[in-house]
Amino acid sequence: MTGSGLSKCKVLVTGGAGFIGSHVADKLVEMGNDVTVFDNLSSGRMKFISHHANNSKLRLIEGDLLDTDAIEAACKDIDLVFHVAANPDVRLGGVDTKVHFEQNITATHNLLETMRKRGLKEIAFTSTSTIYGEAAEIPTPEGYGPLVPISLYGASKLACEGLITSYSHTFGMRSWIFRFANIIGDRSTHGIIVDFIDKLRKNNAELEILGDGRQSKSYLHVRECVDAMMFSVSESDEEINIFNIGSEDATNPTRIGEIIVEEMGLNDVKFKYTGGSRGWKGDVPKMMLSVDKLKQMGWTPKWSSEQSVRETVRSLLENY
Ligand code: NAD
Repeated sequence: MTGSGLSKCKVLVTGGAGFIGSHVADKLVEMGNDVTVFDNLSSGRMKFISHHANNSKLRLIEGDLLDTDAIEAACKDIDLVFHVAANPDVRLGGVDTKVHFEQNITATHNLLETMRKRGLKEIAFTSTSTIYGEAAEIPTPEGYGPLVPISLYGASKLACEGLITSYSHTFGMRSWIFRFANIIGDRSTHGIIVDFIDKLRKNNAELEILGDGRQSKSYLHVRECVDAMMFSVSESDEEINIFNIGSEDATNPTRIGEIIVEEMGLNDVKFKYTGGSRGWKGDVPKMMLSVDKLKQMGWTPKWSSEQSVRETVRSLLENY
């Protein structure tokens, strides 16, 4: 499959009914692949894939990655797995210490075990910038270390990376690990833009902003993100292929608030800051990833963080 490009493959997309996963599934279908979406619909939505209802190129298996029989069935006759499913809620780790362990680490282990038993050899995994923790080097390159995550979510994704690389080495698999910046776009169901729009719909006179509003982070539109993923899988064929995926600049919560207020046509909204340099325990106040590795291979992000934010706000206001 690799090298020759990504088409006419049988691809399993875990979490394929979620925000990013549904865009991955769309793209894979568009590229001529047969796609099986495996999703427990915990945060995924049927409406994100319902446009494929009459398309024989996509089927949905409603199942849970904690159910090994269900994964076994989903992995039948699969060439490549995009493992997108996870619990991505960073804040949750502060109140529930089990959720990321189960939904991310155990779920990934279950999937890898099934792949090993069935002889499946290729996995692409959606990891995160949070595995770097509070990196001293910004933009942060893939080779940065030591990796010291400060959230249970980041820790769980780093553990998943370790499982994937060790399975790759031990059982002759090939893997792609994508460390995402903040990914935004249509079908977003969580994150700062969704939060701010919800808050402003409830009270358009005041916007509560977690932290001091100056946290500086990189945002990438989901279409660019998926494009980079497909490019990487087609163009790299090491045993383990690790790529940062993000934009080349950053923006902050105050600016995001201003863009949303502008796009909603509101005036005189008072910004109320909860204070402190981070929004919550585990929040990394400064994040921008180096995308030089991908750029050297020929993929460059086109949009700035602010362009992606504005486009996302417009599509969310229009559709939800
Ligand atoms: P999402 O919540 O929209 O998608 C997760 C999907 O996985 C949902 O459809 C959910 O129903 C499904 N799922 C969860 N647990 C499952 C289980 N046990 N069995 C089967 N399906 C299950 O989140 P997203 O933002 O689209 O994130 C997708 C991936 O990208 C995640 O792995 C996340 O960690 C990673 N990521 C996202 C961002 C971002 O900014 N959105 C940044 C870095 C990494």
